[in-house]
Amino acid sequence: MNILKNYINGEWVDSVSGETLDVINPATMEVLAKVPTGDKTASDVERAVACAHEAYLAWKDLPVLKRIQPLFKLKYLLEQHTDELAATITMESGKTLAESKGEIQRAIENVEVASAAPMLLQSEFLENVATGIDEYMIRQALGVTACIAPFNFPAMISFWFLPYAIACGNSMVVKPSEKVPLTMMKIFELIDQLDIPKGLLNMVHGGKASVDAILDHPDIKSVSFVGSTPVARYVYSRAAASGKRVQAQGGAKNPVVVLPDADIEMTSQIISDSVYGCAGQRCLAASVVITVDDNKKIREALYESSKARSVGYGLNQGVEMGPVITRESKSRIEGLIAQGEKEGGAVLLDGRSATIKGYEQGNFIRPTIIENLPLEGELLKTEIFGPVMSLLHMKTVEDAIAYINRGKFGNMACLFTSSGASARKFRNQAMAGNVGINIGVAAPMAQFPFSGWKDSFFGDLHGQSRHAIEFFTQTKVVIERWPKEWTRKF
Ligand code: NAD
Repeated sequence: MNILKNYINGEWVDSVSGETLDVINPATMEVLAKVPTGDKTASDVERAVACAHEAYLAWKDLPVLKRIQPLFKLKYLLEQHTDELAATITMESGKTLAESKGEIQRAIENVEVASAAPMLLQSEFLENVATGIDEYMIRQALGVTACIAPFNFPAMISFWFLPYAIACGNSMVVKPSEKVPLTMMKIFELIDQLDIPKGLLNMVHGGKASVDAILDHPDIKSVSFVGSTPVARYVYSRAAASGKRVQAQGGAKNPVVVLPDADIEMTSQIISDSVYGCAGQRCLAASVVITVDDNKKIREALYESSKARSVGYGLNQGVEMGPVITRESKSRIEGLIAQGEKEGGAVLLDGRSATIKGYEQGNFIRPTIIENLPLEGELLKTEIFGPVMSLLHMKTVEDAIAYINRGKFGNMACLFTSSGASARKFRNQAMAGNVGINIGVAAPMAQFPFSGWKDSFFGDLHGQSRHAIEFFTQTKVVIERWPKEWTRKF
């Protein structure tokens, strides 16, 4: 069985660790590869950082116009290899082929935005800040940066950071999720074709030991993390304690509110797509649906659209939802549904014990709806990260906003309505960093920051767009005076 290699200093090299984990296709349970793991992967990180530091020293002084050239080739290569990358994403993560292609498109868009670095890096200049004195600010690279990714978007998430990091003059060490390392292997085969210094972009496998080595390494200047809230909080504090700049995106529990004046058919379809897309394993998946006032029609429509969703292996045509990532995930999610019942929720649609013909061993759960969970119960506060909709009913939009704002997460909140006034109130008052109006997955495009709030984000500058440019540079302010006699009078 193939033991995956690391990509360090422009070469594919074996991990020093002898320990491995199986990479498993969650639909077929086939073992696809073995990924290095265990404590010794810390030495792999050490080696990658040493090379990345050397590469950064030369790279930072190249003109930015030269630094963005490889991004154009990277965009081209990602486009050329979309089908093959998408198939790999589906095989290791379980999502459908259409979903996999969608995430590659989102990755490419970040490459495009980062290639605007010559404009985005321009800064401020104030002539005569005092008599004969000028002051200006320049942005300079940080050094070696690191990115630690979760399993649910094996391609896209590293691209919220990677293209910006190198456009700004940094080098990077990428640590993909040990559950889905194959996509990033394929992406690094493309990166290997770029005309960039050896060591500029490196990939190291592993789990906690690799992460801890990144968090503690004195030559790593910044950490971009995406994953669950407990790990995000840990990464944020440990990396900050070693003096690093950190952006750590965490988990979510995303509410969507449906007002009686919403278009029922469109709304139920969009909400189902949001709840069950990627089998609910999206940080922007709608998870709590709150219907306001008259709910009979929307409740029926949501039930029908949930029930109709076709579940199966994502590589097969017509499949709308794949399995969840691991066996442990499946039993955790099914356990949470049972907990919901114990707390007093009514299971309107039960997707537990799903068997898919031809994929009987796969980690499948069908769409599930639990109704009327107690507002202060545990389940409504817990990220399920599976294809489960919690359906609540409230009297007014104000009640819904108040409920949303009491929640500990703040990744996304959405409203469905045809009233401009309600939309405006919601947009203004909902305490979440990404807000959708008649949108089910309010994912910021690459031109905007991915703005989680509260326990969904630790840090201040987010991924993507201008925020990424600011995150990957440090400002230097220069104040300068030239003696009067040296300046020519006109
Ligand atoms: P995870 O937190 O288990 O793992 C994320 C990364 O951290 C992986 O690379 C993993 O190797 C590493 N890791 C795991 N446990 C660790 C530990 N104890 N110490 C150090 N490192 C550790 O997350 P996951 O299960 O891969 O991904 C799902 C989670 O990510 C969900 O909570 C989801 O909401 C969240 N997510 C958030 C966003 C966002 O933008 N806010 C986007 C995608 C996913």
